[in-house]
Amino acid sequence: MAAAEPLTAVGPMTPRPFRVVERHRETRDTWTLELEPVAGEQLEALPGQFTMLYAFGVGEAPISISGRSGGRLVHTVRAVGAVSEAICAARPGTVLGVRGPFGNAWPLEEIAGDDLVIVAGGIGLAPLRGAVYGAIDRRDSLGEVAVLYGSRTPRDLLFVRELDRWRQAGLEVEVTVDAAGPDWRGKVGVVGKLVASARFDPDAATCLLCGPEVMMRYTALALLERGVAAARIFVSMERNMRCALGHCGHCQLGPTMICRDGPVYPYDVAERLIAVREL
Ligand SMILES: Cc1cc2nc3c(=O)[nH]c(=O)nc-3n(C[C@H](O)[C@H](O)[C@H](O)COP(=O)(O)OP(=O)(O)OC[C@H]3O[C@@H](n4cnc5c(N)ncnc54)[C@H](O)[C@@H]3O)c2cc1C
Repeated sequence: MAAAEPLTAVGPMTPRPFRVVERHRETRDTWTLELEPVAGEQLEALPGQFTMLYAFGVGEAPISISGRSGGRLVHTVRAVGAVSEAICAARPGTVLGVRGPFGNAWPLEEIAGDDLVIVAGGIGLAPLRGAVYGAIDRRDSLGEVAVLYGSRTPRDLLFVRELDRWRQAGLEVEVTVDAAGPDWRGKVGVVGKLVASARFDPDAATCLLCGPEVMMRYTALALLERGVAAARIFVSMERNMRCALGHCGHCQLGPTMICRDGPVYPYDVAERLIAVREL
């Protein structure tokens, strides 16, 4: 009788162990973690893609790639419930499970010569941070590059030390908050309002949006009003999901599985999907 196959096969549902090697606090409820594989190769992932991050004994959540750091996997997580709280609490040395990367990427490869407008609301800057660095890498082959960022209050702003570095790299960076005290010297109002005065040519611009869906809807409207074609506006649909493989149907919206076909969609497709309320 043939010997039984050893149980060593690792499929896409099996998390790989990754160790937290750096952890720093961004805001009162948001942390950035840098992860390295306990064994084997580092993950190759593109800005816009996500992994399924597993806190052992608690559960798994989809979390976007928020950048790069010497080849390490970088995630920025806001603690909103059991899983994200456990991930945020993971100190250096803690082992988390990682599946993926999954999903498609921001279309940075297709935008040579274009102006680029990146619009983020709240934690939505995390999935876009890699795109910002991608734009800095391609600065010479792009026209105007604008980063428009809104958060609830000044205390909720992410990556504050980096915003000035992005300006120094030749990007227009505009920041606004929903509400602030008297010591805030910056803009107050929703981020979509920054679209009207941002420097870009609507006929030659590609726009990347991530944030709460209401923010993406109003920002897309402002971009359409300025004359950007819906097919040149890309949004990341961060709906709840489970398997990330297009099998379980948890993130199905009409004909599309967001985990498999997204999360990044052109707005001429996403507009119909966003019309279906949160799952
Ligand atoms: C593709 C993708 C990428 C994501 N990237 C990031 C990221 O980079 N950083 C990050 O902090 N979060 C990200 N999220 C959201 C993150 O997955 C959820 O916050 C997390 O799953 C919540 O799980 P929980 O157990 O902590 O909280 P739960 O107890 O499950 O939820 C707490 C609250 O958050 C709401 N919620 C849960 N998931 C979502 C969601 N996807 N969108 C809106 N509201 C939600 C619930 O309705 C509930 O009100 C992403 C989601 C997707 C689908």
